[in-house]
Amino acid sequence: MFLHAEEGLSRDEIRSLQTQRLRETVARAARSPFYGKVLDEAGISADDISSPNDIARLPLTTKQDLRECYPYGMLTVEVDELVRLHASSGTTGSPTAVLYTHKDLDTWASLMARCLHMAGVRPSDIFQNMSGYGLFTGGLGIHYGAEKLGCLTIPAGAGNSRRQVKLLRDFNVTCAHIIPSYALYFAEFLQAEGIDPASLPLRIALIGAEPHTEEIRRRIEDLFACKAYNSYGLSEMNGPGVAFECEEQCGMHLWEDAYIAEILNPETLEPVSEGEIGELVMTTLSRDGMPLIRYRTRDLTRFLPGECACGRVHRRLDRIAGRSDDMLIIKGVNIYPMQVEQVLMGMSEVGGNYLIELTRQGTREDFTVKVEITDDYFVEDMRALTGLQKRIASRLRDEILITPRVELVQRGHLPAGEGKAQRVRDLR
Ligand code: ADP
Ligand code: ZN
Repeated sequence: MFLHAEEGLSRDEIRSLQTQRLRETVARAARSPFYGKVLDEAGISADDISSPNDIARLPLTTKQDLRECYPYGMLTVEVDELVRLHASSGTTGSPTAVLYTHKDLDTWASLMARCLHMAGVRPSDIFQNMSGYGLFTGGLGIHYGAEKLGCLTIPAGAGNSRRQVKLLRDFNVTCAHIIPSYALYFAEFLQAEGIDPASLPLRIALIGAEPHTEEIRRRIEDLFACKAYNSYGLSEMNGPGVAFECEEQCGMHLWEDAYIAEILNPETLEPVSEGEIGELVMTTLSRDGMPLIRYRTRDLTRFLPGECACGRVHRRLDRIAGRSDDMLIIKGVNIYPMQVEQVLMGMSEVGGNYLIELTRQGTREDFTVKVEITDDYFVEDMRALTGLQKRIASRLRDEILITPRVELVQRGHLPAGEGKAQRVRDLR
């Protein structure tokens, strides 16, 4: 049933493996210029670790630390032992690099294969990777995982929708990895070409790399008549393959044999209470070239309580609610873009794309939500459109407590890229 024995470990077995691997990680990290210094300053070494709870005694690592160590300051090996570099896409601020040895790539591909298998992908599947390649880990990361599992793997890359359909059809592709915003765009592209997305042979879509709501998942599943599974990762923790949904689709199992995850209150940096939302902080347990200790991901989530029906006891992360630096303060109110998305995507008249725009005139802040609406609806008369506009504004008000200006636009009229969607344009 499981691809790897590690999937079936008990809580006790996970804990003892974590203890052993955390000790090794701290010992190894101490060899890097950065951790050598910070561990020394904190007066802590591998010998002080006797359970996974001792992780709380270790110093935190931030994105800023990674930037300051750019390019080679976090390595525990010589540069000639490295074989790969990836970089974060720089969604927020300047990029950071992650470097891998041969063994690191192998570990990563195995974790990735395990994730795919858990979501129901099998060696007999034909797999199309429709996300960008290059420095972005969603390309080669997923690719090597699918190959490792034994799938015929097509490195289609992002964009070029016409070629994507051709490959999907010609090779009878049954599984695809695709960024959710691109999946919605792609479905609209197909419909405009007179192709029903549900007529494609896809049975499984792996979606992730950007925050998205349950509503978006349902839409993708309905449009393509397939199952869609949430995939979470970040380049600092290798890339994709960190946490993934199983076939139960109730949260993402985080591989605790390879990572220790904590959820901390981002202000006090103390652990949140059981089941509460906070910032995910992660430690690598099986990375040689560039181990990271207590890395602050800035992603907000929580551990889901209870057991999963699939039998795996690796704890499950809830859908990522956004990043701690995503929060918008509009007219003094705290708002997360995902709250807006949840409202919009729950309305059938709304199409697959939207944009939040913030502007300032003198002391006045303007908050506009631009919404693409479906073709069916766009042909309605003015009165119906004005009614829809009001309905959207009032539902948003119920959720976020302030009323935005709502602008309805025709499908395909908002910027749509092939990479991660930019949902907010802050011009203040
Ligand atoms: P960047 O930080 O520049 O976007 P990465 O490509 O490493 O670079 O992106 C990792 C980030 O993408 C995560 O920290 C998270 O914010 C987001 N992310 C990845 N997968 C998901 C997912 N399934 N749901 C929500 N957000 C995700
Ligand atoms: Zn499960």
